[in-house]
Amino acid sequence: METARVPDKLDIEIVRGDAIRERFDLTPTDTGPELIARVFDPADGATRGFVAVDNLVMGPSLGGTRLAPDISVHEVYGLARAMTLKNAAAMLPLGGGKSGLIGDPVHYHEHPEEKRRLIAAYAEALWPLAAYIPGPDMGTNENDMQLIYDVFTRLNGAAHHGRGGVGRPPHKGGLPLDEWGLTAHGVFTAARTLEQRNPDFRLADASVVIQGYGNVGRALARKLADADARIVGASDIHAALYHPDGLDMDELDRVRLEKGGLSRYNGPISTRYEADALDLLLEVPCDILAPAARPDAVTAGNQAAIQARFILQGANNPVRPDVETWLAKEHGIVNITDFIVNAGGVIACAVELQMDAEPDYRQRVLAEDGCGRAYMEKLVSRIVSANVEDICDRIQADPNQTWRDAALALARARLEAGPAKIKDSLVLE
Ligand code: NAD
Repeated sequence: METARVPDKLDIEIVRGDAIRERFDLTPTDTGPELIARVFDPADGATRGFVAVDNLVMGPSLGGTRLAPDISVHEVYGLARAMTLKNAAAMLPLGGGKSGLIGDPVHYHEHPEEKRRLIAAYAEALWPLAAYIPGPDMGTNENDMQLIYDVFTRLNGAAHHGRGGVGRPPHKGGLPLDEWGLTAHGVFTAARTLEQRNPDFRLADASVVIQGYGNVGRALARKLADADARIVGASDIHAALYHPDGLDMDELDRVRLEKGGLSRYNGPISTRYEADALDLLLEVPCDILAPAARPDAVTAGNQAAIQARFILQGANNPVRPDVETWLAKEHGIVNITDFIVNAGGVIACAVELQMDAEPDYRQRVLAEDGCGRAYMEKLVSRIVSANVEDICDRIQADPNQTWRDAALALARARLEAGPAKIKDSLVLE
């Protein structure tokens, strides 16, 4: 792929109010957007990305910076709206935002110095936009967040500016959310909560299919296997594997990061799907289906073949809302919505931000184990399990609503209640 020249400098052009609709052909909702910023190269005016600040009711907006070749303002805005719901539902003192830079992540992975220049220019451009706090997302990582943090420190004249980046390396005061599997921890907690709510469902010996054996999928598989569930299916971009008696977890881990990934798996299987047939794995019988790879995994095209009892949405938007409704009505399938169940990562970002601002809070987080992992797992469990309980209660009270409707009602209620209700939401007693 041809990659654009790395800009010497980037600027942002901020668009607010009615002009957003005309300029970007976006349809605002009752919650936002507050503003859309176009990131451009002042040398030639070319658009190099977008920032969407959707809603600021709960606090400054926080959401990841995505690096992708085809990122659009519509995608960034859609993701920012989802962050408004995710952050509000998790009772974080943060609004919803997101940003996207246009670029080929593979090229930048191979040319780290170019990536540093791009991210540094982007951080300088972001500095006037105090309403947005960047974190990591697809194509960006902890080192990029550290660079943004350092540029902000230089421009601010001092560290602890409260502007991010967050999701920095642990030796720089960050929380390694992927290494600790914190998003997976939230998804696992949801499974435990469903077990408590459904007397006929036991995690021990439940069968599980994981689409996307990456950061989230792999950590989730381990946690479920440790609870004696059977991982009967797993996939990555190379292969999808199925065995009704369970896959060999050690073998999955051995090949995961090798060239060819799961296609190199040498353990027991009854079926292997490759190339265009990967999604057939979603159709095997299982108790829990965890799509943890990409959007639109379950669509109108394969909904009728889905046999899971519970779908835990590790990925963002893996099941279209109309498909969720169909699955619930026709097959009684429970879908625990992405912005409820995959909040572990952003909860860690919120904690890191507060640790930067308050040394006493940092001490509290680190007190139990010196690194903060125990604190984070307890906090993520507390937040996600309370939200899954809340949604189950809403469905019990009105079984005609969908699981997504119940999740939306919860998030909207938190937004309406406003920031006063979320004081100390990141503090464990
Ligand atoms: P990752 O890149 O580590 O893993 C993604 C995995 O999906 C890889 O193994 C990849 O090979 C696989 N994959 C890609 N396309 C596939 C396909 N068509 N079929 C099967 N497998 C496929 O990413 P991640 O950090 O684990 O994130 C996974 C998803 O969860 C993404 O949608 C991300 O936006 C979402 N998410 C992640 C976090 C987090 O904390 N990492 C938080 C919230 C949401």
